[in-house]
Amino acid sequence: MSTRCRIPAWLIVTLFAALPTQLHAAEPSWSDPSRGEKPVPSLRLYVLDCGAIHVADTRRYELAPEEVANPNLAVACFLVVHPKGNLMWDVGAVPDAEWTPAGAPQVHRLELPDGQSRDIDLTLPLGAQLEEIGYPPSSIHFLALSHYHYDHTANANAFPNATWLVRAAERDAMFAPVPPGTTRPSTYAELHYAKTTLIRTNDYDVFGDGSVVIKSAPGHTPGHQMLYLRLAKTGPILLSGDLYHYPEERTLDRFPVFEFDKAQTRRTRVEIERFLAATGTRLWIQHDFVGNARLRKAPAFYD
Ligand SMILES: [Zn+2]
Repeated sequence: MSTRCRIPAWLIVTLFAALPTQLHAAEPSWSDPSRGEKPVPSLRLYVLDCGAIHVADTRRYELAPEEVANPNLAVACFLVVHPKGNLMWDVGAVPDAEWTPAGAPQVHRLELPDGQSRDIDLTLPLGAQLEEIGYPPSSIHFLALSHYHYDHTANANAFPNATWLVRAAERDAMFAPVPPGTTRPSTYAELHYAKTTLIRTNDYDVFGDGSVVIKSAPGHTPGHQMLYLRLAKTGPILLSGDLYHYPEERTLDRFPVFEFDKAQTRRTRVEIERFLAATGTRLWIQHDFVGNARLRKAPAFYD
């Protein structure tokens, strides 16, 4: 044995055990100790209740009424809490400022710019739900919308400190002289001035460790995107955006009649289904009323 090897094994083990902690300590953290915020130890996903849309006519999705388990559409909002920061994914159908909570579910009639209206069940404002779990809107570092439709953008103006993560094609459509009829531009007007990251890659790794990835999924809108999360206990999941609204769209191969580019949606669906199968990732269809009812809601979370 060489006489130069005098470092005891226990010391080497101790040094290596300490290494990840030291590296972690040197990494930037967005949590603000002055507000009493502590970084969470591992990735969390909170599911927030942003209401439900009464759908009178499922034919807008090429589905006969008898083909769907439930015609209503859940509206879910999601908060992703990572040790390095917080990300909001989709922010509801009705802005908090447009209704008054009554302590019980209520029906709100929303008039859309194109003359259509929707009845939406609401129970709790998004801001109050975030406050309750200790992540007020001001503590959100990143905001990403799956797409520009009114039922995903409602509270987009409410996150003053967030960097908006968006694709150029989507942003351009949102701020075009005549935005698409399915949008409510007043609900996201502030984003025009927000700190913005234009995503130029198919996959965008938000925190740099592969656990929170925004995936390109165009077709429903030009810059439609989905959110992949690698949760330690729950396993990998993919939040659908509006790639599908009903699980029956997926099993029966149907498409909404209002796609921006139906052929592109078809290609995206093939690609995403391939990704799900290859990686063992579960798809959560955000609007799936029956599926959403089974999800654990904040203050409980998935990790
Ligand atoms: Zn949509």
